[in-house]
Amino acid sequence: MTEFEELLSDEVVQAYLAEIVGAEGMPVAMNPVDDEIVDEDLAEKLDLDPKIVRRTLFILYENDLASYRRDRDEESGWYTYLWSFEYDNIPEKLNKEMGKLRDALEKRIEYERDNEFYICDIDGIRFEFDEAMDLSFNCPECGSPLEPMSNDDLVEAMETRHEELVNELEKV
Ligand SMILES: [Zn+2]
Repeated sequence: MTEFEELLSDEVVQAYLAEIVGAEGMPVAMNPVDDEIVDEDLAEKLDLDPKIVRRTLFILYENDLASYRRDRDEESGWYTYLWSFEYDNIPEKLNKEMGKLRDALEKRIEYERDNEFYICDIDGIRFEFDEAMDLSFNCPECGSPLEPMSNDDLVEAMETRHEELVNELEKV
């Protein structure tokens, strides 16, 4: 049991980590240790390929979710890496990511609302009104007439997702 257990039980946090480290790295990302640990020892503890463990730790490091310090063995002169998980940073990082998603979604919803769209039912290609007009409302691929297309369902789905994001952001 680690201090991050509650944090890691959150599906949003799990999805965030999975996006960063990939499926291969999840056994490492989901099993942080509270104290400093050498990568080889962590690999042994988790019964995983040391290469995957090292790679995952470096990905976490690049995302500010792990840190390391080098320790020199006096006898052999070799360096070992002592790793720490920095999962205290997760809520803030996640918050930032979700904020970016929310902003992008808002722009996208605005674009969808502000534009009229036309579609070729045969090819499934969508055109903005201006494009469709330039094409005299004929599909450039197959020549069939372009039909007006409602994007209400799409906008509605985006608004639902947007609402979820706003709620998640309020929780953090
Ligand atoms: Zn077509």
